[in-house]
Amino acid sequence: MIDSFRHKGMRKQLVDQLAQKGIEDQRILDAFLKVPRHFFLDAAFTEQAYTDIAFQIGAGQTISQPYTVAFQTQLLQIEKGDKVLEIGTGSGFQTAILCELGAKVFSIERQKELYLKANQLIPTLNYTPKLRYGDGFEGWETFGPYDKILITCGAPFIPDALVAQLKPGGRMVVPLGEGNTQEMILLTKSTNGEISQRSFGKFRFVPMLKDTAK
Ligand code: SAH
Repeated sequence: MIDSFRHKGMRKQLVDQLAQKGIEDQRILDAFLKVPRHFFLDAAFTEQAYTDIAFQIGAGQTISQPYTVAFQTQLLQIEKGDKVLEIGTGSGFQTAILCELGAKVFSIERQKELYLKANQLIPTLNYTPKLRYGDGFEGWETFGPYDKILITCGAPFIPDALVAQLKPGGRMVVPLGEGNTQEMILLTKSTNGEISQRSFGKFRFVPMLKDTAK
């Protein structure tokens, strides 16, 4: 795929919209200027790639709306070198944004088709996250604990295994709820291990499901 001046122009317009909608962190806006979102959709859908909407990516899943990706990323307060666990690699776009911000990213996907596709695409953009085909409810203990944990699907509850794999002082962002909409929850673990939660309004996600897809 090609990343042209036209694509860069479309990215700039999208970034202006994100800023208008309240994304204030300049590092996140800069990351959106850099990552070619149209690479994460089929070639026919370039226009949709730079519109602020969610979009089908196969296996019944969606690439999250750019605003939602930016909002979740902003809540995480990513610092360079942070170890970040993402649940729901999907297209890999959010993974690329986290890499662009200098995080060491570990990302899990339960749909094999999507895992394989992201695993092929992401290295071509020179990002080096570790991707895994598996069930995000279990986390990825081998590389934990993590500074930040991000769930990008609607979780029926906050998985204990993930809370256990969060570092003291860490932040975790979870879209919580099983209905049509989820409540965006920021969970923080204090340095002495106390958990607290704050809510940041309603969003819409595909569901977080148990086990890998058959
Ligand atoms: N971050 C993605 C969003 C994809 S939608 C992107 O930027 O494109 C959410 C993804 O979570 C879907 O691909 C879905 O298959 C995946 N998912 C759902 N339940 C999961 C689980 N238990 N473990 C890992 N991935 C899961």
